[in-house]
Amino acid sequence: MSGERSLTRAILALGSNLGERAGTLQDAVADLVDRPEVRLDNVSPVITTKAVGGPAGQPDFLNMVIAVYTSLTAMELLAHCQGVELAHHRTREVRWGARTLDVDIITYGEMRSTDPVLTLPHPRAAERAFVLYPWSLMEPHATLQGQPVAELAAAAADMPGISHAPEAQA
Ligand code: AMP
Repeated sequence: MSGERSLTRAILALGSNLGERAGTLQDAVADLVDRPEVRLDNVSPVITTKAVGGPAGQPDFLNMVIAVYTSLTAMELLAHCQGVELAHHRTREVRWGARTLDVDIITYGEMRSTDPVLTLPHPRAAERAFVLYPWSLMEPHATLQGQPVAELAAAAADMPGISHAPEAQA
């Protein structure tokens, strides 16, 4: 890890609802930290989320979050996440909105940004139980913009569609 730049802690959210979902998430975590500028700090359990919107019959998502320490800038981290997404998108079916892999940056330190290319914190994170719930399992006392993540998860509209994914645990 470079000593020239300070380290920032970032929360990344991963989701997959196509193909070998659990394997994809595992591989994606390995890929995300497979460079010296990114170090894994914490990993949530994998949860199952009912697909919301889109055509009926979409497969459920597997979702998880991770915490990393990184010397990458926020934009560099976004490019890195998108590179890992692309590496897993060979079987993507855009027509159905199903995703082999989606990686979002939820927070990057305390940075706030309204840039549509990289909005921080992620603009929809505070209402997405599939991000908030695994984050609260990983870090029960985490807060997002001053609000307890566990409370935000409990209030999220998609919380009833969430369950644990025992088949996806290591
Ligand atoms: P999606 O396909 O829904 O994952 O959206 C990807 C688009 O959202 C890309 O064009 C990103 O530049 C943009 N974006 C804005 N904020 C974020 C964020 N916090 N994390 C990931 N992508 C973001």
